[in-house]
Amino acid sequence: MLDFATPSLVPSAEKPALYCNSLTGYSRRKTITVPIGNVPLGSDYPIRVQSMTTIDTMNTLGSVEQSIKMIEAGCEYIRITAPSVKEAQNLENIRKELRARGYTTPLVADIHFTPNAAELAARIVEKVRINPGNYADRKRFEVIEYTDASYAAELERIRAKFLPLIRICKEYGTAMRIGTNHGSLSDRILSRYGDTPLGMVESALEFLRICDDENYHSIVLSMKSSNPQVMVEAYRLLVQRLDAEGLKPYPLHLGVTEAGEAEDGRIKSAVGIGTLLEDGLGDTVRVSLTEDPELEAPVAQALIDRYAKRAGHSQIPEIRQYPINPYQYTRRKTREVANFGGVNVPRVIADYSEIPVTHHEQLRPIGHFYLPVPDKWRMNDLGADYLYTGSQPASFMLPNGLKEILDYSVWLSATDQVHKFPLLDTSTYLNSRQKPGGLHPLLNFVVTQLGDFSDELASALSEDQHVVLVVRTENTHAMAELRRLYVELINREIFCPVVTLRSFPDSQGDSLQLYAATDIGGLLVDGLGDGAWLATDQLPDLSSEERLATANRYNSTAFGILQAARTRMSKTEYISCPSCGRTLFDLQETTATIRKRTDHLKGIKIGIMGCIVNGPGEMADADYGYVGIGKDKISLYRGQQVIKKSVTAEHAVDELIELIKEDGRWNEPESE
Ligand code: SF4
Repeated sequence: MLDFATPSLVPSAEKPALYCNSLTGYSRRKTITVPIGNVPLGSDYPIRVQSMTTIDTMNTLGSVEQSIKMIEAGCEYIRITAPSVKEAQNLENIRKELRARGYTTPLVADIHFTPNAAELAARIVEKVRINPGNYADRKRFEVIEYTDASYAAELERIRAKFLPLIRICKEYGTAMRIGTNHGSLSDRILSRYGDTPLGMVESALEFLRICDDENYHSIVLSMKSSNPQVMVEAYRLLVQRLDAEGLKPYPLHLGVTEAGEAEDGRIKSAVGIGTLLEDGLGDTVRVSLTEDPELEAPVAQALIDRYAKRAGHSQIPEIRQYPINPYQYTRRKTREVANFGGVNVPRVIADYSEIPVTHHEQLRPIGHFYLPVPDKWRMNDLGADYLYTGSQPASFMLPNGLKEILDYSVWLSATDQVHKFPLLDTSTYLNSRQKPGGLHPLLNFVVTQLGDFSDELASALSEDQHVVLVVRTENTHAMAELRRLYVELINREIFCPVVTLRSFPDSQGDSLQLYAATDIGGLLVDGLGDGAWLATDQLPDLSSEERLATANRYNSTAFGILQAARTRMSKTEYISCPSCGRTLFDLQETTATIRKRTDHLKGIKIGIMGCIVNGPGEMADADYGYVGIGKDKISLYRGQQVIKKSVTAEHAVDELIELIKEDGRWNEPESE
């Protein structure tokens, strides 16, 4: 059994996990209902979609038109930033105009720092969002030693500042979100709890307890971070703490902050949001992409839609002993087999089983490049580690960095049995173990499902030093069933590495990325998985070009999932804010420019933030930051430290690259 750092959080045998109804049967967490205008939230109401405008709040017509686009794209709540009293006041004009045009969608005012703006907005719109990290609190980035008495005095000061808003919300029937952001915790919280999920939870609870004392319960809670692992742990811990303190089960607003754009943004959002939805947590979703805000709602809806018919899935055996600490990441302990498991990064298996591999160029999209002169292979950061060719072995010798996996029957008659590895089903594996030469001496892949798991298999896997298990499922509650299998392995102390295999015959494009990221990423955030395999065997009829394109997309999706779950950094990570009325430059264009110049750098995290007010906090774990501080003025950061102030926008990207060069982390892009 793993050693839990926080004994009070250890799930008991009677109640395997404290953060959800069930780890094996899909069941949405029951919450109180929070009325928000004409769209109530929580309990049995559908999981709601929402997003935030990016236009200046003082631009009334622009805000109205953007809101309408978002509503028509599926948003059920519209959030609008109100950084000061004048924007809060203008919410009235925006609201009137929307209502005049027949749109009754509830509006949410987004507040940072300014109680005056919040108190005004709470009289106008249906909901206010406050950030407990900076409500009535200017951040001074100080580490302060608090005694219990001085900490309590600080809470009293906050209470005095916060009470007027609670009273206005009660009077006007306005809801409130207490929305913690990992990147903007107060000095008080950081000093006592550090930059941790527990600190995030405490940050919200301090404000929530004041609301509870005032008998005000129209509250929604969120725990956002740009790191999906931190975000998942914080939401789980929040639910556990609400229960432990006897507080009401408030609805949850789910989101990953600064997720970025395109495929990376979608995958990162799904790893965080999807993982929680799988366990029945979440009552409203906002996906934050650095794209036009109306593009966010369909992504959120696709994530949510997956659960509409989830209940009634095939039954999964209960977990009696849960060996995973859901509040703190620990990778499942495994032995090293070839380059799987142990301390190796999770591996990616590209699936070309439906594509005859006949020429070198076919491997280019999965990161392996053949250079006729000087007759060598090169590999980029998205180079697959293994290639499954099934029953059609590649007709040429693969590069060193790419090993081939064949179906067992084909491997048995292969001329080269040393450099190719067999894939066996469970019963063939058990039968072949005793036969001389029946298995590869170093590495064998054995596919299994929870239903195939037996004592005989368990004992074979315990002894065998040369096996990598490949787990798959047909259950619609896939992540939970696969997790159940991992739990079985941990409880039986079986240390073979495991590859998670998923196939999505009915989903392509965005939904494939989202669902694969949820299922594989949801396991990775709990330390489960030594490899990712997106199978192509159940795809509908496709032309050979389409099949190749699909297999290649799968490869980049698999790498994206490993990166989003923070288990294998293979590319530059962009932590870009979704932009809002405070944004000081064109975020989409700037992100595209920075990406174009830097996306060959491996494992560097670059924050691109629209404003100085929240930007530095929101990009908490970025290595470098590009932050708007005024019109045409950018500050550049190394970590949380400003290095170059007030650089003109024209020179800022060059200066950013100079900064990376100074740190010795730059290399020139290679031409292919
Ligand atoms: S960092 Fe600033 S500009 Fe970007 S979304 Fe947050 S508040 Fe808006």
